[in-house]
Amino acid sequence: MSAAPLLRQVFGFDGFRPGQEEIVDAVASGRDVLAIMPTGGGKSLCYQLPALMRDGLTVVVSPLIALMRDQVRALTEAGVAAAALTSGNSEDENSEVLRALSARELRLLYIAPERLASGATLPLLRRAGVQAIAVDEAHCVSQWGHDFRPDYLRVGELRRALSVPLAAFTATADAETRDEIVARLFGDAAPQVFLRGFDRPNIHLAFQPKDGPRRQILDFATARRGQSGIVYCGTRAKTETLAQALNETGLAAVAYHGGMEPDNRRAVETRFQREDGLIVTATVAFGMGIDKPDIRWVAHADLPKSIEAYYQEIGRGGRDGAPAETLTLYGPDDIRLRRSQVDEGLAPVERKAADHTRLNALLGLAESATCRRVALLGYFGESAEACGNCDICDAPPATFDGTQAAQKVLSAILRTGETYGAGHIIDLLIGNPTERISARGHDRLPTFGVGKDLSRSEWQAVVRQMLGRDLIRPDPERHGGLAITAAAHAVLRGEETVTLRRDLVSRARPAVVVRT
Ligand code: ADP
Ligand code: ZN
Repeated sequence: MSAAPLLRQVFGFDGFRPGQEEIVDAVASGRDVLAIMPTGGGKSLCYQLPALMRDGLTVVVSPLIALMRDQVRALTEAGVAAAALTSGNSEDENSEVLRALSARELRLLYIAPERLASGATLPLLRRAGVQAIAVDEAHCVSQWGHDFRPDYLRVGELRRALSVPLAAFTATADAETRDEIVARLFGDAAPQVFLRGFDRPNIHLAFQPKDGPRRQILDFATARRGQSGIVYCGTRAKTETLAQALNETGLAAVAYHGGMEPDNRRAVETRFQREDGLIVTATVAFGMGIDKPDIRWVAHADLPKSIEAYYQEIGRGGRDGAPAETLTLYGPDDIRLRRSQVDEGLAPVERKAADHTRLNALLGLAESATCRRVALLGYFGESAEACGNCDICDAPPATFDGTQAAQKVLSAILRTGETYGAGHIIDLLIGNPTERISARGHDRLPTFGVGKDLSRSEWQAVVRQMLGRDLIRPDPERHGGLAITAAAHAVLRGEETVTLRRDLVSRARPAVVVRT
């Protein structure tokens, strides 16, 4: 199966995170790979997905038993035959794993490095028909770091003995560690190294609240007459009406969506590839497999569904490195629509919570008070300086010191054990005595009602901006309950201030619809 449907069906993601697609491609096509990605960047997908794209078994060496167990559980729940061989297993568990291995039923086998020291392991893996090896936390093979694990040295032997491709992953990027990983895991074979940061500095980032959205898109496109561009639309119908509206203003535009005949779709793809200055108004069906380097702009007529989808879609612009521009429109209807799509979907609750998180992160980005690139890269675990190439850097919005408001949110979250979503936290702050509040005794907390100075929608704007700043994160493990991040501690201690956008938290006006 190819990557896109697996990504959606097995993992429930609607796009790749920065860097993942290239790594997945390389691993799936059987190359030796060393990938350096920041923590939280989504390394595990980069070996799990290729494992499902090929036949047979992929062995994953990982030093963290708890993490292996989590991943095996998640994969099993998603219907993937996965298991772990660790010292933490019971006899029964181990013999079941061995049985499944010799019956060649498994697609992913997690194995602790200590296991490689046992003489029984190699013959076992030989019989199991291993097709590839993945190594998590690959820096453990390096003596430079403080995580050195002598058993990791055996991974290189395993690769030679099985002569299958190896993909190594780490978040540690310094050159010495990298060289040592390559020498010890790959020997003389030079792996393809992925170290590229997530940033696409040539892409200008901009968001606008919807305010006559059709005119906003037409203006944006007209100002870029003659350039190739994509307008992503939330519905098939809109791709058609927008293409027509663009045509009426004298711009060359065609619609593209999944409801069209395959032949017509291919015709649009080919035309876009060959023709200069064509605009395609499209649903998200347009993009995978489009490899046009000189797309000069990407607009979103409607809010994408997640921060990952946003990044992937704008990332189709400016592949040639020359400047590309983007504009993403959003409004309260988008937010409602996206929320109900998540709520009404068939996904299990944990996945819904995670989908809300990704939407929240995008809303945080949309309402960011500071450089959008800093916020975007921060979400993907990379730090950056104010970029000078986004609408916020171009014209900083009016802000105020929101440290106290942020502290109130953080302490409400902490006092309720980091287990509740934004709705409950806001009820607590504004002193709304809901049934849930009284049932948990939260009306007796000192934070109950300390936020009466702001309305619910203003608190929502505060919370969204805090999500965008990565001060808080919904925790998928706890059904999306908000948890505070490491960065929030400095705010709680008063060592860091939090700047919020005035236009989105002003008392008189509802959040989100205000023009910037
Ligand atoms: P790492 O091992 O790099 O620290 P993980 O593989 O644990 O990161 O992934 C971090 C988080 O990102 C997980 O919650 C995972 O579900 C999520 N994630 C990974 N890839 C994607 C994607 N393409 N879209 C959305 N979320 C993703
Ligand atoms: Zn910027």
